[in-house]
Amino acid sequence: MPVRETEAIILRSFPFKEADKIVSFFGRETGRMRGVAPNARRSVRRFGAGLALLSHVRIHFQEHPSRDLVRIESCDLLHSVLETESSYERIVAYSYLAEVCEQLLPEHEVHDAFFRLLLLVREEIFRGGSIWRPLTYFDLWSLKLAGLLPPLDVCEQCGQPLGQNDPGWFRQQSDGLQCRDCHSQGGSKLTPASRSIAREMLSGPLSNIPADGWDQSRASDLRRFLEQCLERLIERKLVTRQQLDHLP
Ligand SMILES: [Zn+2]
Repeated sequence: MPVRETEAIILRSFPFKEADKIVSFFGRETGRMRGVAPNARRSVRRFGAGLALLSHVRIHFQEHPSRDLVRIESCDLLHSVLETESSYERIVAYSYLAEVCEQLLPEHEVHDAFFRLLLLVREEIFRGGSIWRPLTYFDLWSLKLAGLLPPLDVCEQCGQPLGQNDPGWFRQQSDGLQCRDCHSQGGSKLTPASRSIAREMLSGPLSNIPADGWDQSRASDLRRFLEQCLERLIERKLVTRQQLDHLP
């Protein structure tokens, strides 16, 4: 079989047998794939830091018709987010991006817009500043690109528009937002300020969103709403979401 190559971002790698690694990657020209990197735990020359979490790489691999896993021949590192010392907070954020991609993206499906989203958000987190602004942007756009972002300006029950200055309400099991008249006791509130952040993030690039004032509490209601949408979609809990929630 011919050797193929693709620009890719490494989602996960773990030891396999004595010296190999299993690698999950999101290829720009191939979609999400899994492969074996033979002797990767010994051969620094062929793989170096290229198989680390969220490394941006050019990966060379061979497919075998009867096997699920491709054989990874080599990996050229373009950029590693772990090159310099990363804080625990950043590593949890990178792990969250990787887990969402692993769970949400179908195997072998090319998705260039999603690839660009992942590249942008990982670079924004790497550059420093608050992780919450790029993570909120990622939550919104990953649902939007998957075609599964619920409308944020209409009540899911009665269909009435939600005013710009009105909150919306949501519950764990609900698919969208409800208006003041329809929401029942015990629901969570999505504030007008967070709805406004969502509108801004959906209408322009991340660089348009000012970086000031993004502590963990900012738009936390929006992230909770979006992340529970993601979890319903993938039908499981995101392990790294709980780690994000417990960051000091
Ligand atoms: Zn309503």
